[in-house]
Amino acid sequence: MNAISDTKKDPKKMLEFDKAHIWHPYTSMADPLPVYPVKGARGATIELCDGTLLTDGMSSWWCAVHGYGHPVLDGALTGQLSRMAHVMFGGLTHRPAVELAEKLVGMTPAGLDKVFYCDSGSVAVEVAAKMAIQYMQSTGNKNRTKLATVRGGYHGDTWHAMSVCDPEVGMHALYRGALPLQYFAARPAVPFGGRWDAAALGPVEELLEAHGDRIAALILEPVVQGAGGMWFYHPEYLAGVRRLCDRHGILLIADEIATGFGRTGKMFACEWAGITPDVMCLGKAITGGYMSFAAVMATDRVAMGISENPPHVFMHGPTFMGNPLACAVANASLDMIADPAALQNVSRIEAGLKELLAPAASLAVVKDVRILGAIGVLELHKPVDMAFIQRRCVEEGVWIRPFGRLFYVMPPYIISDGELEKLCRAMLRITSEI
Ligand SMILES: *Cc1c(COP(=O)(O)O)cnc(C)c1O
Repeated sequence: MNAISDTKKDPKKMLEFDKAHIWHPYTSMADPLPVYPVKGARGATIELCDGTLLTDGMSSWWCAVHGYGHPVLDGALTGQLSRMAHVMFGGLTHRPAVELAEKLVGMTPAGLDKVFYCDSGSVAVEVAAKMAIQYMQSTGNKNRTKLATVRGGYHGDTWHAMSVCDPEVGMHALYRGALPLQYFAARPAVPFGGRWDAAALGPVEELLEAHGDRIAALILEPVVQGAGGMWFYHPEYLAGVRRLCDRHGILLIADEIATGFGRTGKMFACEWAGITPDVMCLGKAITGGYMSFAAVMATDRVAMGISENPPHVFMHGPTFMGNPLACAVANASLDMIADPAALQNVSRIEAGLKELLAPAASLAVVKDVRILGAIGVLELHKPVDMAFIQRRCVEEGVWIRPFGRLFYVMPPYIISDGELEKLCRAMLRITSEI
């Protein structure tokens, strides 16, 4: 084993230790793909230890929307640090948490007036599922203990979250017997921008008709399905699902963890359909990518259904609930998101992606090109060779991390036109080599 002190001095030693001891996301410990050591990050640039500069196409998985090392976010965090890093949220409260709740209630769709803070997106999904099931238990619907969802979704890696991920992407077969069994309808068929056909609601309608009385809530990602397949569907589908849930007495949980705070071109993707869900999960960009943090928004009806009936309390309370550092940096992040300049940046990026990625449609390996807001996707016919494509991206000076058949970018909103062009040109060049 290497001594820890060695790894401090020598980047090669650090990498060796990493490879021998550290699990990275979705990888093998026996034969891991290489990881690149990062020295620092500023704006839309990630700097590797060897000095290589990479233009960031990932926003560190949707979250670093304002770029890295933003002075306003840095200031909010260090300012809060000088007052307190953390206090428990049981029996105590503080200004950063209250201010953040005011902002969230003000900016989310009308009716979402109650806020529950937790520490990550997956936990937010667990909290939302628990709220829905407890609401049904408390209001006399004892049989409603299941969740419904659509295929192609991604909701996180904890148990209930995993149980509503796409069964293939989430590898349900692997956990058979351990994973709660939920109800799945087909992936929403009509693409965003396609011609709406009400028949697309058929599968979810049939599902709710057959099993509605067992279902507490239907959970989905509004309009943009992220890590389950980067699929953009017609907002009419979401509006239809809202009506069907109401008809069957089922709560609608909108997982806006990836889509929230402007990514799709609206502040929240629910706005494309003009709907208010009963419960909304927020995460990722909420702190501008600075801290792990999430919030679950609920309507008065859900909160009061739980609270006015025995046991009257919602049984959840993570240690780091309402963490002041996270709330403070979230407040600064949301002030910038609320500035019209943020959404203007998203439409600027959308226009850039449309123009710069259009030529990809004529490449034989490309099946579909999809762009919405600050998300650009090349869907290929075959899964990518990760080792090849990752190495080529770094050689081209860009940071893009594809998965499966999807080569995609969701850059920080502050990316310049020149940097965006660099990202897209690299994508085209690499795709043409596949
Ligand atoms: C990332 C993501 C999650 C999980 O969030 P974590 O913070 O990674 O636990 C849940 N839902 C969606 C839609 C996501 O994109």
